[in-house]
Amino acid sequence: MRSRYTAYYQGDIDYLIATHHPTQRYGGQRAAIGQSVATTTWLGLRVIATEAGQAADSKGVVEFIAYYADPRPGQVHERSRFVRQKQRWFYVDGDALPPVEPKRSDPCWCGSGQKYKACHGC
Ligand SMILES: [Zn+2]
Repeated sequence: MRSRYTAYYQGDIDYLIATHHPTQRYGGQRAAIGQSVATTTWLGLRVIATEAGQAADSKGVVEFIAYYADPRPGQVHERSRFVRQKQRWFYVDGDALPPVEPKRSDPCWCGSGQKYKACHGC
């Protein structure tokens, strides 16, 4: 899941398609991802919770928040489902969740090491 975030960050469209479960790929997906990576600046990833998803599992769930800067600062908060087939993990789908406002004393999501209130929270 982190590797998919990194791929979004780096604009690695091939990797994003390759790690999307084959049954969930769709026509126009390459263009849609291309549009997304061209117009979105990702700022940071915060993993909220995980279920299973270890080497011995065939399924996993990851709840995460990915923060972006534009067109306006915002976040993708999602509970994503993954399956493992032939030793590889694939993203299947996810449930969109409401945005979460960080607490002022939380570490800032941008990875600066500062508290949220002293960084992007002001
Ligand atoms: Zn910050």
